[in-house]
Amino acid sequence: MMDHFDVVVIGGGIHGVGVAQAAACGGYSVLVLEQTGLASATSGKSSKLIHGGLRYLEGLHFSLVRESLRERTLLLKIAPELVHLQAFHIPIYPETTRRPLTIRAGLSLYALLGGLHPANRFRTLHPGEWQDLDGLETKRLQAVYQYYDAQADDAALTRAVMQSAMDLGADLRCPAEFTAAEIAADGCTVHYSINGVDNGCSATVLVNAAGPWINTVAGRMRPTPPTTAVDLVQGSHLVLEGRIEHGAYYLEAPSDRRAVFMLPWKGRTLLGTTETVYTGDPAAVTPLASEEAYLLETLRHYFPHRPQTVVDRFAGLRVLPAAGNAVFARSRETRFERDDQRRPRVVSIYGGKLTGYRATAQRVMRLLHRTLPSRRPVANTAQLELKPG
Ligand SMILES: Cc1cc2nc3c(=O)[nH]c(=O)nc-3n(C[C@H](O)[C@H](O)[C@H](O)COP(=O)(O)OP(=O)(O)OC[C@H]3O[C@@H](n4cnc5c(N)ncnc54)[C@H](O)[C@@H]3O)c2cc1C
Repeated sequence: MMDHFDVVVIGGGIHGVGVAQAAACGGYSVLVLEQTGLASATSGKSSKLIHGGLRYLEGLHFSLVRESLRERTLLLKIAPELVHLQAFHIPIYPETTRRPLTIRAGLSLYALLGGLHPANRFRTLHPGEWQDLDGLETKRLQAVYQYYDAQADDAALTRAVMQSAMDLGADLRCPAEFTAAEIAADGCTVHYSINGVDNGCSATVLVNAAGPWINTVAGRMRPTPPTTAVDLVQGSHLVLEGRIEHGAYYLEAPSDRRAVFMLPWKGRTLLGTTETVYTGDPAAVTPLASEEAYLLETLRHYFPHRPQTVVDRFAGLRVLPAAGNAVFARSRETRFERDDQRRPRVVSIYGGKLTGYRATAQRVMRLLHRTLPSRRPVANTAQLELKPG
């Protein structure tokens, strides 16, 4: 007889493990299938920020920012060994697009949406403090704003959430590739492959959390559930020699004025990110030479004396609604597709943020509530402490 699970989750990124934890908290039996390794795709290749997303204010995504700041506050509390506050600096030069008034207005709104938490205070640095800023170019510098956001080891956070789910009874098969599913009125039959050997189980519902593979995975289900057309947008990071002592920097790339972050990372410097539409195999994504040149040019512009030796590089894929040429104007909200509005058997998670994984998982569980049998909840994801593995 085949194993049966209330919930089978495809994908061991932050969304998949988040749903597994929420399902296990709800008292459901749950299995996660991951083809390569936990956080081996986007969830291990992000900018590693647990943040509201200051720049999303420009797109007027207020509810996204508010929810993300709420999640940031919660994660700082339940995962203190994994998520920590970080000072961020925004330098202003004569050519900086966002002028002091805009920055002040943005940071004030950010603080307000964050519920006036002490971590949302911001200030202007005194010029006497500029010398301490890790070699930031002070020629023509007009002002530096300092505010706080949080940073995490994204892969470690993903593993910690999976561990929390497993502590509540969730099961993980890895490496295990989901290969097919038959969706029927009374449940789903799931096929997956471990080292080339076919395995199967049955499930009450399926959650497609396959990140950049989302539509490939949906295409392996019969009948195929509804999908959204997406573009995969590559974001690349460089890890550079040299420690940053005084926090993170929010820079405007000199060539196109896009945001580039420079962050402390494990005794080194993390520099990113870019936005390049990607059409290849998601498993093969890697930083382009042009992206590396773009990031290093930004570094040289603002920190002319810092080391430029690249010791590591990685790229991840954002899953964004297909939008022709309007790459920068796309919605960053998480979206869901389901095969039935009232009683879905399959829910697919499109896009999203590391920061909001818990809220996203709760939404998925609410969508599945009517399809799942009634179970007694055993825990609450907002209260479970997350520990590094
Ligand atoms: C460059 C970049 C920077 C970012 N920075 C931030 C940030 O600083 N802060 C923030 O909050 N968010 C950030 N994000 C967003 C965030 O990283 C993603 O939203 C999140 O990691 C997506 O997680 P996921 O679980 O949906 O996908 P993924 O992490 O990609 O996981 C999908 C998993 O599914 C598995 N899979 C696929 N197909 C199968 C199959 N057939 N069988 C079994 N397993 C399968 C894959 O192996 C993979 O592990 C960033 C994104 C990018 C691209």
